[in-house]
Amino acid sequence: MQSEPGARSPLPDPPSLWRATAPDLPETPVLDGQQDTRVAVIGAGFTGCSAALHLAEQGVPVTVLDAGQPGIGASGRNGGQVNPGIKLRVEAVQRIWGTELGRELYRTMGGAPDLVFDLVNRHGIPCHPVRTGIIQPAYSGKSLDYLKRYGDYQASTGAPVRILDRQRTCELTGSTFYCGGFLDERAGSVQPLAYCRGLAEAAIRNGARFFGNSPVRRIESSERRKILHTPGGRVAAEQILICTNGYTDLVAHDPLIRKLSKTIIPFYSYQVATSPLADAIQETVIPQLQVVADTRRLLTYFRKDHEGRLVMGSAGGPHDARGASSYGLVVDRIREIYPQIGTPQIEFRWSGRVCLTADGVPHVHALSPGIYTGLGYNGRGVAMATLMGKWLADLAADIQPDTPTIPVTTARALPCHALQNPVVRIMLAINNIQDKVEYRRAAIP
Ligand SMILES: Cc1cc2nc3c(=O)[nH]c(=O)nc-3n(C[C@H](O)[C@H](O)[C@H](O)COP(=O)(O)OP(=O)(O)OC[C@H]3O[C@@H](n4cnc5c(N)ncnc54)[C@H](O)[C@@H]3O)c2cc1C
Repeated sequence: MQSEPGARSPLPDPPSLWRATAPDLPETPVLDGQQDTRVAVIGAGFTGCSAALHLAEQGVPVTVLDAGQPGIGASGRNGGQVNPGIKLRVEAVQRIWGTELGRELYRTMGGAPDLVFDLVNRHGIPCHPVRTGIIQPAYSGKSLDYLKRYGDYQASTGAPVRILDRQRTCELTGSTFYCGGFLDERAGSVQPLAYCRGLAEAAIRNGARFFGNSPVRRIESSERRKILHTPGGRVAAEQILICTNGYTDLVAHDPLIRKLSKTIIPFYSYQVATSPLADAIQETVIPQLQVVADTRRLLTYFRKDHEGRLVMGSAGGPHDARGASSYGLVVDRIREIYPQIGTPQIEFRWSGRVCLTADGVPHVHALSPGIYTGLGYNGRGVAMATLMGKWLADLAADIQPDTPTIPVTTARALPCHALQNPVVRIMLAINNIQDKVEYRRAAIP
């Protein structure tokens, strides 16, 4: 079978800070003809690349197909914040997975950054790793009270966390905007596209095969053998891992993939990067290079890159950005949090899809015998997707995992999924109002 001449990704890859500063892509030709493998992976973000690397390291034959290139999805577009765990509190997690498993999974997911930094070190991935923690600054007295309770719980599990008073928060962030905060030393940052390409390169070095611009349009499945069809070829495999997360509906011709896309809510987050800050200002802004994510419902997340740019993002909406005006909220927040920068010089603007789930936790589903998926990181996927990739690799290779894992469940379409866009828009508006009311009411100590 011939590959389509000049095959192109169905997903546009606009310029971004990460694309401008990442090392070159590993070679990922278009699939042309027939390939046989043991495990086929659809999607080359952190989930798919981590799964491929862990399988290849075990000597399991693995082939990865991406509609574009490694990191073209959320993995090459995010804030690069390597955060521990998920956003929910432990009690919420325990309600979903039970008291014991919930507590164990909470701790395991909290340790996910270890896996990221271990892979970076072990495979020499050039992605500017920094591990000085995450600051969660409080936007109101009420959220500071919550952080104190959350900090006490984390500390009781042995996590290296600390409550920060107003002055220390101000010193560490370089902003007087917040009334206190919380530091979790398990976190850090990477250049996310460089990290994703590095995972792909390490997987290829270990024997994995990667094909780019090769969207999977159809899955043919019998009990023993599955065949993935792309425009240029076919891959026959014993097992399939679907690692398409927020981009699951990108090429949704296949009924199984279409069904999976109805279990999640994709949501755009918009991000900007300034030009490198002037030295005198740069020294005051996050001098120890922690990553920061505040406590607003429409949270603001930010950090500096390795060349002293301020990189900041926030919630966007159900649709992709439409020109520079879509980034107005993020630019306003730079002014609000860092007035010392003056009018920020914006060098890059870009956006990407976050994958939300109805219960706020990631899911592992068996879609049919030998076809698994892991997805739904709710905006915390750099570490979690890397861990998920390892879990999926263990599942496909029938290896006993060395940590507790999320139980494998059946995928269920969300009721009224077709109404997701208006619902997301209403939720955003409500959250915005709640944030404003809370901020006004807050008697900041
Ligand atoms: C703007 C933004 C900021 C974020 N910031 C952070 C952060 O700072 N920290 C954090 O922890 N998380 C963050 N996240 C979340 C994090 O980026 C994601 O959770 C994570 O990258 C998900 O990785 P993934 O591999 O599962 O999916 P993706 O990286 O989205 O990869 C999915 C891949 O599937 C491919 N694909 C889809 N359909 C097909 C098909 N039919 N055939 C072949 N290939 C297909 C796509 O091309 C894509 O490459 C952010 C997300 C966004 C969008």
